[in-house]
Formats: sequence, C-alpha cells, structure tokens
Amino acid sequence: MQKIFSIAIDGPAGAGKSTVAKALARELGAMYLDTGAMYRAFGLAMLRAGVDVNSMSAVAARADDVDITVEYVDGVQHIYLAGEDVTTAIREPAVSGAASSVSAVPEVRARMVALQRRIAEGHSVVMDGRDIGTAVLPNATLKVYLTASAKERARRRCNELAEKGTPQPYEQVLEEIIERDWRDTHRAASPLRPAEDARPLDTSHMNQDEVVAALRRMAQEACR
Ligand code: C5P
Repeated sequence: MQKIFSIAIDGPAGAGKSTVAKALARELGAMYLDTGAMYRAFGLAMLRAGVDVNSMSAVAARADDVDITVEYVDGVQHIYLAGEDVTTAIREPAVSGAASSVSAVPEVRARMVALQRRIAEGHSVVMDGRDIGTAVLPNATLKVYLTASAKERARRRCNELAEKGTPQPYEQVLEEIIERDWRDTHRAASPLRPAEDARPLDTSHMNQDEVVAALRRMAQEACR
C-alpha cells in the first residue's frame, strides 16, 4: 500500500457507507472520517438555536458561529458542539432532515469541507459522505460510489432502528430515504453524484463482509 492514501466513499443515505468505511479504515490502519456526522452536528445546532433550517439565508448567517470539533476516543469518532459530546444526539431522526437541509447551504459546505480537509491532512484516510470524491478529496487514491436500491436501504435502516430499540414503520423510513435522496441530488451546491473516476458498487445483494472485501480489493489495486 502507498505510504499515505485517501479513499473517498460516497453514495446515498442508508447505502451502508459508514459501517463499511469504518471497517475498511480499521483493516488498512487509516483514519476514518464520517462527514455526515459533521452536517448532522450543524443541523442539531440550528434546531437547538431555533433557526429555520429551510431558510438558506438564516442558516448561512450562522455558518461561522457553530463550533464543531471531531476527536477520536479509543479509535471511535466523537463529535462535539461547543465542547459537548453530541455523538448520540445527532442520530435522532429530526436531525437527519435538518442535516440534509443545512447541507444545501454553500456557506455551510465551504466550512465543513475546509474542516474535513484539515482533519485529514497528513493521514491516510477513509472518508465517507456525498461529495468526498467530487469536492473534498478530488485527488483521492480511490473513489467508490456505493449504492443500493431505496427499498433495500429502507429495509436495512429499519433493522438498524429496531436493533437500537427505536423501531419505525418501513413505509415512513422509505419515504424519508426517497425525500433525502431527492434533496441531496437536486441541491445546487455539490449535489450527490458519482465522481467521473469513481468506481460504482451496488450493494443491494451483498452482505457487509462482501462489501468490505470488495473495497479492500479495490484499495489494494489503487494503492499499488
Ligand atoms: O451520511 P449521513 O446520513 O449521516 O448525512 C446526513 C446528511 O448530511 C445527508 O443527508 C446529506 O444531506 C449531508 N451530507 C452532505 N455531504 C456529506 C455528508 C453528508 O451533504 N459529505
């Protein structure tokens, strides 16, 4: 493997990016950065401040005020808002919608991208998100676009929520996924799309171990 490498994993909500990216980073001894967590933290800050997340100008006006930091505790990424650990709070369903809304604001994206690049500087990194291959790490050693059908993604998310003890009806989860896909792909600022040089990987009929194995093979090839 190359001395320092970067792997960009992009794709729609619920494609399983974070689970497989985390596992891949561990195997390759690289840092893992979940960039969605940063947009979630920003969205949570707006909800707490009572800012209308659908008002792009109201959110843009706050872009520089939000104090987000990322730290690794026993190798696990923790995210802080003004020093408060919000790693669990950002997983609330209301925060998913808020994250998707604030992520359409160019001023928010500019700040997050700068922060993501700064965190990754000088490290081998596996980063997952929506714009890693297209905007954050345009020169990444390997770019992968991970997808799965909306129905399969909804099914996986339902299982995850049930395991956490917060089950939600399948139809509602599917509707939220379709809505987020639409918002993420139709925004003007860095819409979700595969980078031209990204390798597509449809995981609809693959289990987690198979996906990680496929990614490992791609990484070994790309880093040779
Ligand atoms: O990946 P996750 O579902 O946690 O991301 C939450 C939201 O943050 C996404 O719906 C997307 O709108 C936004 N996001 C983004 N760019 C990234 C990562 C996440 O716009 N790099």
